[in-house]
Amino acid sequence: MKKYLIIGNGVAGTTAAQEIRKHDTQGQITMVSQENLPFYSRIKLPDFVAGLSDTDGLVIRKAQWYKDQQIDLKTGTEIVEIDHPAKSARDNNGNLYPYDSLLIASGSVSFIPPVEGSDKGNVFALRSYEDARQLEGAATSARNAVVIGGGLLGLEAAHALIKKGLQVVVVEFFDRLLPRQMDNNGALLLKKMLEAQGFEFRLDAKTRQVTGEDRVTGVELESGEVLPADLVLFSTGVRSNLALPGKLDLETDRGVIVNARMETGMDGVWAAGDVAQFDGMNFCIWPEAQEQGRVAGANMAGAHEEFQAIVPSNRLKVAGIDLGSAGEIDPNDELEKDLEQSDTLYRKLVKKDGRVIGCIMLGDTSGFNEVVKTISGK
Ligand SMILES: Cc1cc2nc3c(=O)[nH]c(=O)nc-3n(C[C@H](O)[C@H](O)[C@H](O)COP(=O)(O)OP(=O)(O)OC[C@H]3O[C@@H](n4cnc5c(N)ncnc54)[C@H](O)[C@@H]3O)c2cc1C
Repeated sequence: MKKYLIIGNGVAGTTAAQEIRKHDTQGQITMVSQENLPFYSRIKLPDFVAGLSDTDGLVIRKAQWYKDQQIDLKTGTEIVEIDHPAKSARDNNGNLYPYDSLLIASGSVSFIPPVEGSDKGNVFALRSYEDARQLEGAATSARNAVVIGGGLLGLEAAHALIKKGLQVVVVEFFDRLLPRQMDNNGALLLKKMLEAQGFEFRLDAKTRQVTGEDRVTGVELESGEVLPADLVLFSTGVRSNLALPGKLDLETDRGVIVNARMETGMDGVWAAGDVAQFDGMNFCIWPEAQEQGRVAGANMAGAHEEFQAIVPSNRLKVAGIDLGSAGEIDPNDELEKDLEQSDTLYRKLVKKDGRVIGCIMLGDTSGFNEVVKTISGK
């Protein structure tokens, strides 16, 4: 009976486990997670902070699913060492996990830039359920929050804090919101719509330091302005979690280098999700992690599947505003485009040689999935 060990029970690890079971009904599957919850939705963490979801509402796979799939899930357990020649991993309590095939699906970690004062009390990042619990707790007694980073996650988190009754200022380094998903006109309209809902922004603004003694009292910008804050959230991106791959001497760049089968350069070791880098890319988004997990799991169990690079796409609702963005967004308006624009709507289809290669949809995302399929050539 083949032994499979999966490190990480996010969407990549869980999808891989499910796929292994499809192909190998007898194999022994063990999943290990540092976190205390079974597979849950990170995407819904802002809802938890806002009080719109409880813990149960986050969980995607309940205990019965693991039983049905005969997957042994060890939560609250960190793998601290891997002896690959001996094909055995060790956890923080000294327990050993022998394996034939190993999947590293250890995800990513929040990146906090080296800003003075970022280690003060009531300064947070939002990546895990535990982060969300702490942020939610602190927000209950806070009044003024500064969110550093006006990307998707920053806006979602800011919205959650506004829902909890806080005054929130979002500080963005670029001169527009969602610099990766929006062009100037789209970002301007989005800003106007969000301001109408209580958001405040400082764009083109760099954080000099987080002020206060033990606890934060404010955020000082390079302009000299000091924003009062009793809570600060850094939403300044993620980095692949390379703690374990580093110990294993796997080839890494921004992530663990994998081929289209999700194989690392080490026989019997696979990587998928935010931790992996395929063809120079790792977007650190859910659909990419899910598909890589599927491909890795299938191949670990003997199938022959290849990962096709995905078109990065995001669709979300911020403060009730529908937003979708995919492929080439042509931020400098250099390419051919179809445009629809009003006070509440911005839709742009970017084209090259008559073919749609990207889109921005704000206020109305109807047809988004079809457009993404067209962009992907599917
Ligand atoms: C608040 C938030 C909102 C998001 N919104 C979106 C969105 O709208 N759309 C989108 O596409 N993406 C979104 N994302 C990103 C998306 O959630 C990630 O791309 C996805 O979760 C990555 O899945 P993964 O399985 O690779 O890693 P993860 O979900 O990070 O799971 C990795 C797991 O491995 C565990 N682990 C790490 N090291 C060890 C170890 N040594 N031993 C044991 N366990 C270990 C970690 O604790 C973690 O539980 C969002 C992320 C966040 C945080």
